[in-house]
Amino acid sequence: MVSRVIPVSAFDLVLFGATGDLARRKIWPGLFHRFVAGQFDESSRILGVSRSDLDRETFQARVAKAIEDPTADKAQVAKFLELVDYISIDATGERGWEALANAMRPDTVRAFYLSVAPNFFGPIARRLERNGIATPDSRIVVEKPFGHDLESAKVLNAELRECFQEHQIYRIDHYLGKETVQNLMALRFANSLFEPLWNSSQIDHVQITVAESLSVEGRGEYYDHSGAMRDMVQNHLMQLLCLTAMEPPSKFTPNAVRNEKLKVIEALEPVPMQDIARGQYRAFGEQGSYLDHSSNPNSTTESFIAMKVEVANWRWAGTPFYLRTGKCLRDRVSEIAVYFRNPPHMIFPGTETPQGNVLVIRLQPDEGMTLHTTIKDPGPGGMRLTEASLDMTFADSLKDAEKPQDAYERLIMDVIRGDQTLFMRGDEVESAWAWADPIIQGWTESGAKPQQYDVGSAGPEDALLLMHKDGRRWRPIGT
Ligand code: NAP
Repeated sequence: MVSRVIPVSAFDLVLFGATGDLARRKIWPGLFHRFVAGQFDESSRILGVSRSDLDRETFQARVAKAIEDPTADKAQVAKFLELVDYISIDATGERGWEALANAMRPDTVRAFYLSVAPNFFGPIARRLERNGIATPDSRIVVEKPFGHDLESAKVLNAELRECFQEHQIYRIDHYLGKETVQNLMALRFANSLFEPLWNSSQIDHVQITVAESLSVEGRGEYYDHSGAMRDMVQNHLMQLLCLTAMEPPSKFTPNAVRNEKLKVIEALEPVPMQDIARGQYRAFGEQGSYLDHSSNPNSTTESFIAMKVEVANWRWAGTPFYLRTGKCLRDRVSEIAVYFRNPPHMIFPGTETPQGNVLVIRLQPDEGMTLHTTIKDPGPGGMRLTEASLDMTFADSLKDAEKPQDAYERLIMDVIRGDQTLFMRGDEVESAWAWADPIIQGWTESGAKPQQYDVGSAGPEDALLLMHKDGRRWRPIGT
């Protein structure tokens, strides 16, 4: 197999929060995989930064543990660790900054990855600038959550823009790094088959589901101040909606793509309360309830949300987008299901279309696409109809291709390449908050309590009713 890995230029990557949970689970393994894939120039370096006072060997031992994998080649691990160094820095004080400034090399791509809490974004950006570490070409990457509401997102944007220009700022939404999400753009804009059908005259509705089977256990304190609307809908589901609904950009460049996504967010209608179902999981069997896991025994934070969203433009008027996400659901499923309209006239007497054509784009599990079609039920007995699927699971159909990269791997390499296409622009984030804020404010003002649903179910009753009143049904979650 010929490798299609495109090497990136030599870089100095400074990873703030290098001892944290995200770095351990995603960033270090992702960097190691790219190194093994041969994507790094071997003069590249990764400087881990955090508050703890650690020597290089102790830190490298931690990184080695994070990238531990029985299949990993020990020689490769050792070579990777040679690129890794550590500096202890106080993000809000003066300790360590001079050492970092001295460690940076001229004429090398500089990227600062802020895998730390958002209250450190401003202080770190200012210190990078003040100490002459940030250059006009360096990049700064920030993790979610990007704000709690419109006001706080504006503050974060202003803090970052004081020291970096927009073309240097990379706001991560790891959903955009998923292979299938990028495939959605390829499906729409590299094929002539679907685009003529991609509008309200041919599409009845769209369902976007991100269902998780896990609870918030262990993250209760954070989650209780967030909830499904802030944690998932305003960012991840919004991005999936944008990529599904946007107009074709004139070219595949960061701003052309992001301009089109922004137009979708700006075209969203306010969502009336009767078009939203809000839920909170309750104990079922062995499993605890949200209130057992939350830091607040009277919490009214939602762990589930379903809503009907209208995109008010010529392409989509009359075609609702139903969004649904939640914790402790029956299964772990992320997908976009595009429901095409039924044929206008049935010529087969006594038969009904079992289900119109549905194109399902699966993000997890088993990334791939399925097109549900109606065919003749095989065999004798007259003209009966049944459903058959054209199925493409990427792992099966692209056996010879390289294994898809994890979203973080892909996105970090994009940062080094200087490609912002799969990162959210500041105005997109603010617009998404401007849409979400009134919904959240409505719940706060009304004191609305989420409806309880069983752990392991498909969500609260209200979510089913939301669809039923429109004469539609959710796709099942899991089998
Ligand atoms: P974490 O485990 O709490 O780690 C926080 C990191 O920040 C540690 O490396 C810590 O260093 C460092 N730190 C704290 N105070 C510091 C200071 N004053 N100066 C310098 N470094 C300091 O957090 P995390 O879970 O990795 O999350 C990091 C960011 O990613 C957050 O914004 C989070 O919302 C976001 N995120 C996390 C996940 C996830 O799955 N964990 C997913 C998506 C987004 P010490 O260890 O030395 O104290």
